[in-house]
Amino acid sequence: FKTCSDRVIALKIFVESKDLDKCAHAMTSLKNSMTWDEKEYGREYDLDIFMIVAVDDFNMGAMENKGLNIFNTSCVLANPKTTTDAAFQRVEAVVAHEYFHNWSGNRVTCRDWFQLSLKEGFTVYRDSEFSADMGSRAVKRVQDVSLLRTVQFAEDAGPMAHSIRPDSYMEISNFYTVTIYEKGAEVVRMIRQLLGAEKFRAGSDLYFERHDGQAVTTEDFVKAMEAASGVDLTLFRNWYSQAGTPQLTIKAQYHAEQQRYVLDISQSCPATPKQENKQPFHIPLRLGLLDARGGEYQLRLEGESAEQQSTDRVLDITQEQQRFVFENISEKPIPSLLRGFSAPVRLAFDYSQQELYFLMVNDSDGFNRWNASQILAIDIIQSLIAQRAANPATALELPELLLNAYRGVLESALQDELIDKAMMVQLLILPTQSSLIELSTPADVEGIHHVREFLSDALAQQLQPLFMKLYNKNCDNNEFSSSAEAVAKRALKNLCLSYILRNPSQQNLQLAVSQFESADNMTDQLAALRVLVNNSMDEARAAKAKALQAFYDQFKHEALVVDQWFVVQAACPEAQTLDTVKALLNHADFSIKNPNKVRSLISVFCSQNHMGFHQASGEGYVFLADRVLELDKINPQIAARLITPLTRWRKFDQHRSELMKQQLHRIKSTEGLSKDLSEIVLKSS
Ligand code: ASP
Ligand code: ZN
Repeated sequence: FKTCSDRVIALKIFVESKDLDKCAHAMTSLKNSMTWDEKEYGREYDLDIFMIVAVDDFNMGAMENKGLNIFNTSCVLANPKTTTDAAFQRVEAVVAHEYFHNWSGNRVTCRDWFQLSLKEGFTVYRDSEFSADMGSRAVKRVQDVSLLRTVQFAEDAGPMAHSIRPDSYMEISNFYTVTIYEKGAEVVRMIRQLLGAEKFRAGSDLYFERHDGQAVTTEDFVKAMEAASGVDLTLFRNWYSQAGTPQLTIKAQYHAEQQRYVLDISQSCPATPKQENKQPFHIPLRLGLLDARGGEYQLRLEGESAEQQSTDRVLDITQEQQRFVFENISEKPIPSLLRGFSAPVRLAFDYSQQELYFLMVNDSDGFNRWNASQILAIDIIQSLIAQRAANPATALELPELLLNAYRGVLESALQDELIDKAMMVQLLILPTQSSLIELSTPADVEGIHHVREFLSDALAQQLQPLFMKLYNKNCDNNEFSSSAEAVAKRALKNLCLSYILRNPSQQNLQLAVSQFESADNMTDQLAALRVLVNNSMDEARAAKAKALQAFYDQFKHEALVVDQWFVVQAACPEAQTLDTVKALLNHADFSIKNPNKVRSLISVFCSQNHMGFHQASGEGYVFLADRVLELDKINPQIAARLITPLTRWRKFDQHRSELMKQQLHRIKSTEGLSKDLSEIVLKSS
């Protein structure tokens, strides 16, 4: 690689010789990262050699050791025959992340462990922007926000809640969390929002220049941002010290005679361990106001001049209660709030389902179009869950509005050649079970599963011809390509396949079997395997067993593919999955000593297979506690992560939460626990 000042850097990747054909993508990603960091942050690489070494047994994704990054093979190796498109994207992101640490982490490092987010939050923000530049920006935002809302919001609401700069810890390994990483990145993103692109860049330049070669604090980072921009971040600092997810509640009134639109905005933040009362946060709220034709109003606040108006603007929310008055609004508008998810908060606004549908079709902000589709679906799902809880015998119905929304998306995906297909995929997935669990207390696991399945089946049935057309349209007979367009086509095709297979017929089954058998890449092959394994038709039984065996035989020498083979089986929502998982613990290729295997089989079952893990007998909980105790003796870091689903007992009905607590107590009273695991059980039981 030749740097911006023409220095030549030797780049090397070390892998086992059998994996030499799987390094090209990591190498390209590395070069792209180096170029990007020069251009976006003015950061040139400093040594004359940069190396990556890949190892099979590694607790984390990778580690940024100066000049010689150590990587989990799962974050380096990529070849279309053995690696899915999603895994390709992860390799790109992790290679970038570790490379970016050379400046945000190594040249400037942390004074103490409380500052972990100084390097991790900032570096996640940097790699996320890099990925957005390499692919679809709106889709990257959707993925990041989905992770934040399900996993980080859950952490913030649970017993391990901590701010991005924690005050104490027993074992720092337990603080490599989504809060430190992903919420930390959101905090940097908000600074970027408040400062604007140019001043933010001036701030990061100053930070790197001032602190090159030093071990510093998040406070030093904020000070550099303030000094370079002149923006006061005094109140903003509460994001560093306070845990919990703030809630914004917005009420709107329209005054026709005065042509005014008034927003009353209040913020609050729930208590978290050792933090009862919270000070207000400085929250950047980006918004727009739409008219009935989908156009955007020019936004002018009371007292502002015409030059200050624009269609999209950021309100500074800094107090518990604030009022904003927009003038010259000729009809009651529909607000598009928190555009691009401009702050990591929960938002409460009383939208009607019609308004959400309108935003889904008309909003100019791609992220908010998706977000409206999610809130609409959540609203529908929650009311069906309530209906079912009140009377389990009621026949559920697919609401017309949801059907129309899906039909609209499918039709535009069929007609519009230029449409962002990766975004269409996001619009056609109902909110995940994990995100629905996060949103309700107590979470009705069976109700959530049942209603979500009911709606997916009903949509699949009503829209079968459209799904089929779109499937065929996105089947590519050309040679394999890893372009963004080809990746999006595969994702859309495979999503269609999963809906198609919800309609029980021999023909549909055959479609999946033939895709499985003829696929020339792992994305298509694994997608076909997954729909076969998840298919509950009696006729599918033989095809499913055959495909699982064939897949294993074909890839038994590829450890990372065998991981995926475990994942598919552990995630299957059938009643006997726990038995399957238990049996697979004895499989020759499973080893509790290998973190990737533990994650693929045990973590996937316990954290993604909600029906399996939360079965009313409590067997899933006993299973997890057994594994945690076994693992604690050999790998406490992973044991302390694995236990997370049990710490969420407050989310579930009394019967389940009692059973979960029993297992936590059983672990707690075991002798010789590691410091890692003790911290988690002490804080969460
Ligand atoms: N610092 C690493 C990372 O986030 C994680 C680790 O410590 O292994 O990239
Ligand atoms: Zn990192």
